[in-house]
Amino acid sequence: MFKGILIEKDDSGYRAGLRELDEANLPAGNAGNVLVRVHYSTLNYKDALAITGRNPVVRHFPMVPGIDLVGAVEESSHPDYRVGDMVVLNGWGVGETHWGGLAEMARVNGDWLVPLPATITAYQAMAIGTAGFTAMLCVLALEQHGVTPDRGEVLVTGANGGVGGVAIALLSKLGYRVVAVTGRPAESDYLKYLGATDVLDRSSFSSPGKPLGKERWAGAVDVVGSHVLANVCATTKYGGTVAACGLAGGMEFPATVAPFILRGVTLAGIDSVMCPRDRRLEVWRRLSRDLDRDRLNLMTRKIDLADTLDCANQLLSGTLRGRTVVAVAR
Ligand code: NDP
Repeated sequence: MFKGILIEKDDSGYRAGLRELDEANLPAGNAGNVLVRVHYSTLNYKDALAITGRNPVVRHFPMVPGIDLVGAVEESSHPDYRVGDMVVLNGWGVGETHWGGLAEMARVNGDWLVPLPATITAYQAMAIGTAGFTAMLCVLALEQHGVTPDRGEVLVTGANGGVGGVAIALLSKLGYRVVAVTGRPAESDYLKYLGATDVLDRSSFSSPGKPLGKERWAGAVDVVGSHVLANVCATTKYGGTVAACGLAGGMEFPATVAPFILRGVTLAGIDSVMCPRDRRLEVWRRLSRDLDRDRLNLMTRKIDLADTLDCANQLLSGTLRGRTVVAVAR
């Protein structure tokens, strides 16, 4: 038996709680060819949606949530992994369609794992988690579309969140001048410590705007969607790129094609879940090199498994800042 968060849905409703779980119920076959003793997991936006049931993230019940995990291999019939190897997992539907990381044990497909990078600790890997991994995917997208520091300022929205915070830290270390957009301007000192040179109030981006505005951004990382994304595109400079990865402000995209056809702006879509393995290895290599560990530490808090339910509500109410690591190991 082992402890984990379990989400259940039946005639009496949708509920999540800390439960004693049976190893016999972990996924079997190829989908579970590596048994991992989980050391840490995290609480991401998607985990909060799953735990609270606010969005239909979970596809099968009962489900152990947790889209991230790091831990030691306990059993393996996968050729790449041996007992004792330290491994990291994010995405692949884990915590949505396959039992996830918010439990002491997880059985997963070895193809979904990557080795814990030598220069990143288990705790740091989860401080990064899906949010930090996605921030790095956004930075890579800007680089691939030719957004270099000499082209001008880059914008990061949802700056007090996990993706936003890691994106600010990465971009500033790479030499970009980073402008942060936030609904919590009182956190400006924190955002400047992470590397923002300027902080703007979200309210100037969140109402319906014009098809085109004054050109300001060489590039942008947007986690908010909706009017914020439309206004970011409308104020991106000729030839600039906007990496869109989130929907914290809404799924809709009330924009016009003007920025794309008149200014050659690129809208780069970012997905972490099905990201191919080669790309994952590149992302972790770049995170090892380009993420300042002191800044990562400043944006991270540690909680216990039993605290995840309360924290999920706090995250969705916009009162948490940065990243949340869940200490899972017994
Ligand atoms: P967090 O909850 O940590 O941060 C989200 C931030 O967005 C908040 O801190 C807040 O920043 C801002 N925000 C919250 N609510 C609103 C709102 N109603 N309108 C505008 N801004 C808002 O989440 P993450 O950083 O982990 O994730 C951010 C988004 O990215 C989510 O939508 C998530 O689903 C998505 N995501 C997508 C991935 C992918 O693969 N495409 C992977 C990971 C995340 P502030 O207070 O500074 O304004």
